[in-house]
Amino acid sequence: MIRVATFAGPGTAPVIREVARPQVPKNAALIQIGACGVCGTDLHILKGHWPKPLPWPFTLGHEIAGVIVERGAELAEDFMGKPLEVGSRVMIPPLMPCGRCHYCVHYPQNANKCLTPVYYGRYLGFDKAPHLWGGWAEHVYVDLDMLPGTKIYKLPDDMPLRLGALAEPLTSCIRAFARAQRAGGFGYGDTVVIQGSGPIGILAIAAAQEMGAGRVLCVGAPEEPRLRLARRFGAEATVDIEELKTPQERIARVRELVGGFGADLVMDCSGHPSAGPEGIEFLRDGGTYVEMGQFTDAGSIETSWHRICAKDISVLGSWAFTGNDLPLGVDMLYRARDSYPFLDMQTLYPFDEDGIARAIADAMAMRTVKSTIVPCPELLQ
Ligand SMILES: [Zn+2]
Repeated sequence: MIRVATFAGPGTAPVIREVARPQVPKNAALIQIGACGVCGTDLHILKGHWPKPLPWPFTLGHEIAGVIVERGAELAEDFMGKPLEVGSRVMIPPLMPCGRCHYCVHYPQNANKCLTPVYYGRYLGFDKAPHLWGGWAEHVYVDLDMLPGTKIYKLPDDMPLRLGALAEPLTSCIRAFARAQRAGGFGYGDTVVIQGSGPIGILAIAAAQEMGAGRVLCVGAPEEPRLRLARRFGAEATVDIEELKTPQERIARVRELVGGFGADLVMDCSGHPSAGPEGIEFLRDGGTYVEMGQFTDAGSIETSWHRICAKDISVLGSWAFTGNDLPLGVDMLYRARDSYPFLDMQTLYPFDEDGIARAIADAMAMRTVKSTIVPCPELLQ
């Protein structure tokens, strides 16, 4: 039997249930989970913010890093053509583009907007709760014949699974900066201000530097544990929004810190609808504003949004990532593993009902940067 954490609906406590270990057909795999993060999207789902019906009770968790423990004979390669074996370390992302719809075929750079995405390694014919998909579980199961859009990404053999569990959120940051690069709005040596100091904001500080930023600043809260970690990741200064309570104070502080005419690039990783009008005032005229995220509350139009015009800035949206972005996330984490205190982002929780409930509560209260559930601790050795 395989133990999985389930939720009966928004606001409910996790309940661990058991699923029969499946037979693994020729193009499928059973993946044992070493670490799985708690994401802002999970928190939104658990607060009841998801706009569409969900198949409660189901298993959450999509920042998955694990090890293949059973593999069908024909599942020989990952999405990038790397060989898969029993024992291979892998990550699987949420929201995998199908590869077949109009967007996937005609606009591969925008396959993040796939019309029929594959979620959470979910598979047909095994769709009664409790499910065997979602990473807050001992195993996930994927079947590429049932859902051909499913993508598996091999991790380097010596990559800790804790690091692998950060590949998905880091990839979102890389794609957002790559969008700005392609638009001519992010160049070598540029000064970047990150709005937000949650896990995405922290990883964006690393991605900005890896992709050529000269100076990086971060606006967020709370000081402990988040802003302190932002500085350890290389932010030269942080601005505490709990200390400076008005946008005017924060704009003045950021502009003083940045100097000159303002930042070249501001990236909003905060998910707060009011961040945009404030953030564009951090920019020099002619700068670039990136609104990035996936499940974000942003969307309300503030009156000062006309400043986009007055300041002649470029505004870009970046939503999640495509199947071809993820290897960049794995590679950056692996290459830069000794350059940033990645593992210090994570607070680890055991895979039991109390541990999962605490992981969620601590993430919601911003007591952690990245609550991370550890279903199979032996895999982290
Ligand atoms: Zn598609």
